[in-house]
Amino acid sequence: MKLEGRTALVTGASRGIGRAIALALAAEGADVAINYVSNEAAAAAVVEEVQAIGRKGMLARADVGDFPDTYAMAHSVLREFGHIDILVNNAGVTSDKTFVNMDHSTWRKVLAINLDGVFNCTKVCIDQMVEQNYGRVVNITSVIGQIGNFGQANYAASKAGVAAMTKTLAKELASKGITVNAVAPGFIETEMVSSIPQSLQDRLLSQIPLRRFGKAEEVAQMVVFLCAPEGDYVTGAELEVNGGLFM
Ligand code: NAP
Repeated sequence: MKLEGRTALVTGASRGIGRAIALALAAEGADVAINYVSNEAAAAAVVEEVQAIGRKGMLARADVGDFPDTYAMAHSVLREFGHIDILVNNAGVTSDKTFVNMDHSTWRKVLAINLDGVFNCTKVCIDQMVEQNYGRVVNITSVIGQIGNFGQANYAASKAGVAAMTKTLAKELASKGITVNAVAPGFIETEMVSSIPQSLQDRLLSQIPLRRFGKAEEVAQMVVFLCAPEGDYVTGAELEVNGGLFM
């Protein structure tokens, strides 16, 4: 196993891509803290799945957009695990409106979780990673941050912001034994995509060279690669898992 002895905090791990990442890290031997904000039953089920693999799992509730809440969560994980080696900033939301109809609160809601949330979670974990001279930070961005999308000015801006932050942190932290990378999924089969009307899903599929939506597990394996020794020489990258949608 590639991650034996490692500990991880995965945000937004109660379902979808975050859940798949948590289970893939556990399958490689990591103990995993499962962050969520409201769906405790789903998060607890993921903790049970991690434990069934034979690793330690714990619940780590926090609204990542809220700094004090996030600080308290990170400290509860540190108390339980003793250290955090891997941080996966996966929690994210959409709230779509064309720009003309987008009010300030819709803009702020998405930026607060998707961009401020990455600042908050990384900030509360980084001192400890610097101290131990080791860390793997993986930020989940999106193809939408690379190409834009109708009705998603807030979401696209948040993901492009995270991609830029990833490169800056990679430069600042490389000398501390910490790599910082992003994984940019295309359209992945989760609740986020199943909520898109069927006619629009069909139109999207026609634009994807591989003619299918991706699987959460396919994104998770890219995250495992970046956290495992095979990924040690990769930092500041944004790796794409998008079926060829953007190339
Ligand atoms: P999802 O199924 O909607 O799950 C979202 C997760 O984020 C849930 O675990 C949710 O927790 C958590 N969450 C939401 N707001 C939070 C907050 N304020 N604090 C902490 N956790 C919060 O999402 P997904 O489709 O798996 O997407 C995961 C990530 O991949 C997101 O960053 C998304 O932007 C990105 N992405 C997704 C796709 C796609 O096609 N699905 C494509 C590109 C990028 P609760 O269950 O407690 O609500």
